Amino acid sequence: MPSLYSVPIENLKGIGKKRAEMFNRLGVYSVGDLLEFYPSRYENWSQITDISQAPINENVCIKATVGSFINTVRTKGGRILSKFSAFDHSAGVEIVFFNNRYINSMISYGDTLLFYGKITRSVSGLQMLSPQFQKCDAVSDSAGYKPIYRLTGGLQNRIVSNAVKTALEMLPQNVRDPLPQALREKFSLCDYKTAIEQVHFPQNGAQLEQARRRLICQELFILMQGMLKLKKAGKSSTEYKLCKDYTDEFSSLLQFDLTKAQLNAIHDCINDMTNGENAMSRLVQGDVGSGKTAVAAAVCYSAVKNGWQCAFMAPTEILARQHHESLSRLFENSGINVDLLTGAVSESQKKIVRQKTASGETDIAVGTHALITDKTRFNNLGLVITDEQHRFGVSQRAKLVSKGDNPHLLVMSATPIPRTLGLIIYGDLDISVIDTLPPGRHKIDTFLINKSMHSRACNFIKEQIKSGRQAYIVCPLVEENDTDVASADEYAAELMLKEFSDIPVGILHGKMKSAEKEKVITQFEKGEISVLVSTTVVEVGVNVPNATVMMIENAERFGLSQLHQLRGRVGRGSEKSYCILVSESKNPDTLDRLETLCKTNDGFKIADADLHQRGPGDFFGERQHGLPKLAIADFADRENLETAKKMGEYFEENKNAFSASEISTLNACTKRLFNREGYNILN
Ligand code: ADP
Ligand code: MG
Repeated sequence: MPSLYSVPIENLKGIGKKRAEMFNRLGVYSVGDLLEFYPSRYENWSQITDISQAPINENVCIKATVGSFINTVRTKGGRILSKFSAFDHSAGVEIVFFNNRYINSMISYGDTLLFYGKITRSVSGLQMLSPQFQKCDAVSDSAGYKPIYRLTGGLQNRIVSNAVKTALEMLPQNVRDPLPQALREKFSLCDYKTAIEQVHFPQNGAQLEQARRRLICQELFILMQGMLKLKKAGKSSTEYKLCKDYTDEFSSLLQFDLTKAQLNAIHDCINDMTNGENAMSRLVQGDVGSGKTAVAAAVCYSAVKNGWQCAFMAPTEILARQHHESLSRLFENSGINVDLLTGAVSESQKKIVRQKTASGETDIAVGTHALITDKTRFNNLGLVITDEQHRFGVSQRAKLVSKGDNPHLLVMSATPIPRTLGLIIYGDLDISVIDTLPPGRHKIDTFLINKSMHSRACNFIKEQIKSGRQAYIVCPLVEENDTDVASADEYAAELMLKEFSDIPVGILHGKMKSAEKEKVITQFEKGEISVLVSTTVVEVGVNVPNATVMMIENAERFGLSQLHQLRGRVGRGSEKSYCILVSESKNPDTLDRLETLCKTNDGFKIADADLHQRGPGDFFGERQHGLPKLAIADFADRENLETAKKMGEYFEENKNAFSASEISTLNACTKRLFNREGYNILN
């Protein structure tokens, strides 16, 4: 029996070349793929709601009798409008169709039908616009739950659902289950065949839940297994071994003492690079302001003193330039060459730097994506560091690593993500956490205000400036060309005219040329500008310790983690710092969400709240994390994530209890999930 993954979709009855192409567009190539093309939602036709009890504007199914003739009129705009009244024992509703010429031939006075759609309230009473409808007896054989699939142009839901029906008939009785039996029993998961059948055509709500739980846990478990394999595969032995640890020497260059947490992270890295058989792949995770740059600098220092080159990649020009500057300053008298390579660097200068990296003259190359273009070569690349790692995909990281001969890899992230999720996202890395902030940091006092308190807030900012401090004001996105919110330029102009007429104000936004951005940031760093009006381009890494206030306009437009990142631009020095969130929102959920920030400065707690409220999209722009696309699971689903994690532990502990065929079925599944995304997972 050939695997259903090797049976092309065209082999199904009713699927010709053209339809097959449509399925391909949805990522469905084989019959096996089709079975894993899960419904995106369901219409529940089995639960009939009384018209009088139906919630407004939510999908409901009503069973109603047509109580009038169908009145068809042509509107002024040329649309055909068909209306009739219908009723059940509880109430009546007006049913309206637009441009459906066939209504008259399908529905008649006196028919009792099921209608599925949203009920709205109009001046004339309850209305249901363009509902779906079917005869009452049609429902019993589809058991009420109608699967709704993601579609593409030309492909109707009915075609997908029929194709799935045919495919299900091809599923052999004894199909191999990707999850070993003992694992299923331990975690009360139903078998694969039942799950697949019920997820497409559920008999009832309970069966559907059971099927979904089984498939979600399977997917997350397999994802974790794959990440583990990637981690093992990524471990390749390296020639680069540290002979000596120079951390003490490095410490004497600093103005401050490293915290214990920083030292621990540094030692983890030094240890990996000294003793490990394999190249280091380590994530250093620490909240904003925890001092990750010093950790990176320490690790670079030892690497360079041992004769290696380092590459240090940051996600933005601003951050790259800033790292370049602080490393240059720090290593000024150490005989270490630090060079900058970003898109904004002039072509002639880029050429010079590339020659220096290729010859080995550059010890530390700091830069943006320009570091991973084909033109950049290294002579002796022993260590690769990426900052704010969540902005880079796994593949970009891999590309930078490929510039050397198995160099060590250190990634740094300020995005505190819940632990279970971290296991998946960073499953291919070892992790060090910097869990304390440098001493003397005050909690950033955070306030949520509305526009009526705006000028008071501005006065507060002015007072701070008078006492020598600086401020950020984050205005709504200019990049998005929103018309209902002021752009950075206009907004700054307004501030300069009104509130801050006697205060130097600078503007920073993503549309500015790099040179302009650089100029403004330098002015802000030097204190020539007191207020920096900016878009979220300041989010990542900007470090001006004298800035003590940040005001964020339209705070409701941002995710909590992003606000926390933004807020991390203040509170970087010894002065007490403040964050003012401005929002006109009246929505209690939104205000509640923003209150989270007023209550805590703990990035992990905030991340957890964020993940819970908004899902993972906020942590990683869509797909940026470079993980396989999930067919059914959701990273925000904590309960199933926990189960999947426990499944992983159980699997590891009881490996010998599973049969060879169970293991090979599981491995094949893992491989399929990852290979689809271009990862090469062996065995
Ligand atoms: P992040 O972890 O957000 O990248 P940075 O590395 O930018 O944080 O550090 C934030 C600020 O804290 C910087 O001004 C840095 O010089 C300072 N800093 C870092 N480590 C210490 C320390 N151990 N003691 C005092 N200040 C420190
Ligand atoms: Mg940083």
